[in-house]
Amino acid sequence: MKAVLLHQHGPADVLQVVSDHPVPEPGPGEVRVRVRAAALNYLDIWVRNGWPGIKLSYPHILGADAAGTVDAVGEGVSDWHPGDRVVVDPTISCGRCAYCRAGQENRCVHFALLGEHVSGTYAEYITVPARNLLGLPDHISFEEAAAASLVFVTAWHSLITRGNLRPGETVLLVGAGGGVNTACLQIAKLTGCTVYVVGSTDEKLEKARTLGADVVIRRDVEGGWSRAVYQLTAKRGVDVVVDNVGAATFQDSLRAAARGGRILTVGNTSGAQFEIDNRYVFGKHLSILGSTMGPHTDYVSVMQLLFKGRLKAIIGARYPLEEVREAHRALEAGQHFGKIVLSI
Ligand code: ZN
Repeated sequence: MKAVLLHQHGPADVLQVVSDHPVPEPGPGEVRVRVRAAALNYLDIWVRNGWPGIKLSYPHILGADAAGTVDAVGEGVSDWHPGDRVVVDPTISCGRCAYCRAGQENRCVHFALLGEHVSGTYAEYITVPARNLLGLPDHISFEEAAAASLVFVTAWHSLITRGNLRPGETVLLVGAGGGVNTACLQIAKLTGCTVYVVGSTDEKLEKARTLGADVVIRRDVEGGWSRAVYQLTAKRGVDVVVDNVGAATFQDSLRAAARGGRILTVGNTSGAQFEIDNRYVFGKHLSILGSTMGPHTDYVSVMQLLFKGRLKAIIGARYPLEEVREAHRALEAGQHFGKIVLSI
């Protein structure tokens, strides 16, 4: 089968497109999916580059997001049949530990993510546990479904489940174009919030406006964006700050938060380690709420909203699988707005 293999860490050039990788066989409780679309996430860049302590079994296949059709089922699987259109929940969990039994699969002690801890979706065929599949209605394309999966469940779990977002609150998104942020923007508007967006270019901010952003602020605004937020909110600050940028922005995010505010984080595209001024945290009664991915119930909740047209996957660019290197370079350049999708 066609697949993109990783034999070593490094720049986009290390990605190898092959056409003779063995087709995986579904084990008991598993389903083999013919992948029609995969989506890129910043995670793929992190895994490709590697970090101290990361252990991959080579050749490794990247990719967390996939949508396609059921190709074959393993022993004991009766709910799915060849040809069924499906989208894949990227969180792999054991189903047995205390967290899984409590419906918190994303806290599973054996938590794994497709394309990070196990083989991923940049391939013609993948095998996944049957419980990870969700039926895909005909009116949603494979590209849309793949583009939505990881970022929508991540955004929903962060804002709604962890962040307890309420109608009427003010939300600041640090960054305009990323997949999680375009999902957060839509979810915050659907909840009835006023949304502020900080972005790097007028073009990205204009697109954020078309998605419903109420107030847009240039990242390089004179005096700094956190000061601009403070002034625009009559020196109050915002109830919720979504900061998945990390090192470059976290200090400003603490400044932009109102008293009692919540800082939500699911990642750190600009770097993981940074100093914070703790006086903001206790002095303003701030909560910093971290999460990663979401449980299957959140996945189903948010994907149903996509299926009903209340949320929309934003696709910034499409590439055939064979042009995966270009796709990675585009993601690293950060010029796009929304998700980059691979057609397979
Ligand atoms: Zn578990």
